[in-house]
Amino acid sequence: MGNIKDYKIATLGSHTALQILKGAKDEGFQTICICEKGRDRPYKSYGVADEIMYVDSFKDFFKIEEELIKKNAIVIPHGSFVAYIGADKVPTIKAMHYGAKGILEWESDRNKERQWLDHAKIKMPALLKSPEEIDRPVIIKFHGASGGKGYFLANSPAEFYERFKVYEGKADHNDYVIQEYIVGVPVYTHYFYSKFTGELEIMGFDKRYESNADSIGRIAAKDQVDADIRTTYTITGNVPLVIRESILPEIFEMGDRVIESSKKFTEGGLFGPFCLEGIIDPELNYYIFEISARIVAGTNPYVHGSPYTWLRYDEPMSTGRRLARDIKQAIEADQLAKVLG
Ligand code: ATP
Repeated sequence: MGNIKDYKIATLGSHTALQILKGAKDEGFQTICICEKGRDRPYKSYGVADEIMYVDSFKDFFKIEEELIKKNAIVIPHGSFVAYIGADKVPTIKAMHYGAKGILEWESDRNKERQWLDHAKIKMPALLKSPEEIDRPVIIKFHGASGGKGYFLANSPAEFYERFKVYEGKADHNDYVIQEYIVGVPVYTHYFYSKFTGELEIMGFDKRYESNADSIGRIAAKDQVDADIRTTYTITGNVPLVIRESILPEIFEMGDRVIESSKKFTEGGLFGPFCLEGIIDPELNYYIFEISARIVAGTNPYVHGSPYTWLRYDEPMSTGRRLARDIKQAIEADQLAKVLG
């Protein structure tokens, strides 16, 4: 039987690292936090890292990879990890990496992502092919716009062209999608699928706290117009959420279908934590506009477990801890390869 003492859990000091490292320690692992110089304070203050490895920039991950391999470290990817290393470089990682690498290519490419979700029969906001087709409220999303910067809404072709004027001819603004705007509430569902138990779990839900989208409602419509405020969606935090219980069966089924479909697109399919991100409208339709095939920051409010994990576990179970447990079970069953991608 493998022994977890022979392994370490490592991640980049950002995004969900506090939760991942705390969860790994709770499961009995030694932990390593890879920090950018000068940004190690949280990881020291909260005592989640047994060891800190320093880099000038997370982009230098490959410079310390050899050392991680020597330490027998299992690297846990998260949102910042993928952003810094690049989805294209993730497949070249030689250190042990938790989770399916292949699926990242499907998650990070807008067209492939849509193909995957379509195949899984997930409801998505309609895509319009050209501004001329705008016959309902739409949101125009620029590719790679961090924090939804520059996203704007339009109701008609004329409105589109009027609002697009400021971006005309700007190279970084000629790649965009025109997506049906869903009027409803944002809901992000955190799933976990284990290859060991073969079971899909719902770990929790969150909604995002975005600046300035979440503050615009604090001032009167007239002031919004007068101040000519443009909506941005810079994520600043996450707010915990429980969902109307009658929607849960459908949300479980959506997760099942996403897992099932992923097997068509990548060997072995998706496993571990993932998230469906979307909007629920007044008819309770859940429209998904994005999938994250890894742990999301929306799980951070639940370091001590969520209302949902409390139903299933008699101990605090964060998503970070859940994935450490997956690794632990794999090591103890001498099947570590099963959870490495
Ligand atoms: P990423 O998560 O890849 O960084 P982003 O944060 O830049 O992307 P999105 O998450 O796609 O952008 O969207 C930003 C915000 O716009 C979200 O808060 C979401 O609520 C809202 N939004 C996105 N698409 C729609 C839609 N089709 N209908 C209504 N609201 C939407």
